[in-house]
Amino acid sequence: MSVVTLTSAGAAQAAPASPFPYHGRFAPSPTGPLHFGSLIAALGSFLCARQANGEWLLRIEDIDPPREVAGSADAILHALERHGLEWDGSVLYQSGRSDAYDAALERLRDDGWLYECSCTRSEIASHGRRGPYGIIYPGTCRTGARSSRRPRSLRVRTHEHLIHFDDLLQGLQQQRLQETSGDFIVRRADGLYAYQLAVVVDDDEQNITDVVRGADLLDSTPRQIHLQQLLSLRNPRYLHLPIAANSRGEKLSKQTHAPALEQRTPSENLWRALTFLDQKPPPDLLHATPRETLTWAIEAWNVKHVPHRGIIRLED
Ligand code: GLU
Repeated sequence: MSVVTLTSAGAAQAAPASPFPYHGRFAPSPTGPLHFGSLIAALGSFLCARQANGEWLLRIEDIDPPREVAGSADAILHALERHGLEWDGSVLYQSGRSDAYDAALERLRDDGWLYECSCTRSEIASHGRRGPYGIIYPGTCRTGARSSRRPRSLRVRTHEHLIHFDDLLQGLQQQRLQETSGDFIVRRADGLYAYQLAVVVDDDEQNITDVVRGADLLDSTPRQIHLQQLLSLRNPRYLHLPIAANSRGEKLSKQTHAPALEQRTPSENLWRALTFLDQKPPPDLLHATPRETLTWAIEAWNVKHVPHRGIIRLED
């Protein structure tokens, strides 16, 4: 697999100098082994943190048991170690954080932002307008859930205000949530906590100052900022890296059968990830140790060279 020609548009903004310590993180879901796409997010967030002399924390987002693959959390940790991507402190597992999520839900409920929803997917699909990222929840249960029998999800109310943030790579982003997602789910009808809720509670718990992750989460960020505002949580800076897609243009993921990283060639994997991020690693690093490669990369890392694109296709 090799990287197809990359183009970049405009200049990136450098992270503003901050008197506060930098806390970055990598937050994989244990739905399969580490693949090339997740290595890019891990490496990009690691390099940003290490170049800023900051901490790089690890969180396993294991709040969705039906999607999890047994053993993959440990496999991810092992793969990170093989690649020399050493994290600080202990790993935070979301499966142990129910009390914190319940407390956040309680606060939203007390403040009048939460309501129960008994709509099915097909009801929403037939009544909701299509927005830029999918169907917008039409607000059917805003004034009370209609069916008493069905299990109910919990939704958070959205408002008409513009939510905006300056992504350190992708530039100014803005959304009015009522025109993009509508009121969104924070606890699913099956009782599981929604990613949008857990991620903001835990970014705050881990004192994250900088979220560096794949651009597939760019359009989720305004929902996360909305929750941060309602829950008075800290609002980190965001930087969304381009995501790797296969030759059909699909994001590399378990669903698209992305192959696990070859564990015998960590330096080559790192070299390919650095090339993907347009850092131009010298060819002799292909035969270096992961530690040597990362030492070079921490020094050389330049976010301005990373392509300002949401998605980049790889050739098989
Ligand atoms: N757990 C998410 C994933 O693996 C990433 C969440 C995040 O970085 O905010 O796609």
